[in-house]
Amino acid sequence: MADRYLHLTGTAPGRFLTRRLGLPQPRRLRRWTLENPTLDGPLLHLTAGESAISDMLRAILAKIGPEATEQTGNPAGIVLDATGITTAAGLGKVHAALHPVVRSLTAGGRVVVIGAPPSPDDHHQAAAQQALEGFVRSLGKEIGKGSTAQLLRIPSGAAASAESTLRFLLSPRSAYISGQVIELTDATPDPVADWAAPLSGRTALVTGAARGIGASVASVLARDGATVICLDIPQAEEELTRTAARLGATALPLDITAPDAADLIAAAAPEGLDILVHNAGITRDRRLANMPAERWAQVIEVNLDSVLRTTDALLKAGAVNRGGRIVATASIAGIAGNNGQTNYAASKAGIIGLVRSLAPHAAADHGVTVNAVAPGFIETKMTAAVPLFIREAGRRMNSLSQGGLPVDVAETTAWFAQPASSAVNGQIVRVCGQSLLGA
Ligand code: NAD
Repeated sequence: MADRYLHLTGTAPGRFLTRRLGLPQPRRLRRWTLENPTLDGPLLHLTAGESAISDMLRAILAKIGPEATEQTGNPAGIVLDATGITTAAGLGKVHAALHPVVRSLTAGGRVVVIGAPPSPDDHHQAAAQQALEGFVRSLGKEIGKGSTAQLLRIPSGAAASAESTLRFLLSPRSAYISGQVIELTDATPDPVADWAAPLSGRTALVTGAARGIGASVASVLARDGATVICLDIPQAEEELTRTAARLGATALPLDITAPDAADLIAAAAPEGLDILVHNAGITRDRRLANMPAERWAQVIEVNLDSVLRTTDALLKAGAVNRGGRIVATASIAGIAGNNGQTNYAASKAGIIGLVRSLAPHAAADHGVTVNAVAPGFIETKMTAAVPLFIREAGRRMNSLSQGGLPVDVAETTAWFAQPASSAVNGQIVRVCGQSLLGA
């Protein structure tokens, strides 16, 4: 079901009318295209206080886009390095740096505040750095014009590990992500030969890839150079074969809950997997009082237990190569809860627990990262079936006042999947337009 309201507010009379009525003013978001792969303007690099990573950051930003100068007009991206803010008084420098320029940001622009991890031993530094989180989340809510704001925490001395993340956040690929806090580790990034095809030479498997978000993930991974295996249930084989053929991928009809699923996946990728995307998921909604045990069990089995089982078996068998990437799919329902979804929200919250706990061990023992996307309201067949008023609420109750597209989840997955994203580990990134739910 198309978002007619977004279309209406894209016309002059519609904009006039909705503004007069005080209704939300969504901007059509500009996403990545081959013709327009970058933001529509230069990047402004600001520093609040003393920074130890200034030179490294400047070198990375110079690779991503031209630097904004007084002659180049409005910036499309503002990067504020606030790693050196260690006191409450120092926060004044954040205001002083951004207050004069925030209004000049282009529509669909990006603000990325770079912070340091809050210290467990220095509560003044921790207070100042945690303050940046509230700052960025508020800025995301007020900035408007389809622009976004994020906080990226970089451990001291690890600025080089931030390139893939800065490239992602300062691009149209992150159009539907706002108000997020991403904390990098100090892991050294694997080298990237070609940023236009960062996944070339990599083998990826995507579950639930016949349609919806999974098909989009498979498509974006293939676009970025990966060899893709699309897995879906045997009942969806026709759609699966069509999707795989369109992408030049291989189809693997298989129920992920089958006892031998991990063996069959390993057999389908004899050279090992580099990217494993757990996207398959189901809903079986009922309020708890009306929910039969089998509806509960089906959802936990598909969304959580099979993810745990196949991940464990594939890691144990060495079927995920070193430098591998595991991406799981949570949901804002797993963060905020949802009426009628005790089973689904439990399964998705379980994914968050799995990611946080496994990530450091998978990195240490296997050289593999584990992250999750947590989609909000994404325009798919699933959400088109939601009753009108609930659907409209889902679309508008976020900072960008619109639903996301499957490609927004796919782009986030592709960023996690990059060889250069070694320092992105244990993260749950919401792709939800900064939904008010669970905020
Ligand atoms: P979808 O129903 O369109 O697609 C899910 C796919 O998974 C289907 O092709 C289905 O056949 C497959 N699948 C189901 N059970 C399977 C199994 N046992 N083995 C193999 N494949 C199986 O759903 P979608 O909207 O594309 O959602 C994809 C993922 O994103 C799910 O995990 C979902 O929970 C999550 N998600 C979606 C939204 C949204 O707004 N659409 C929001 C939050 C989270």
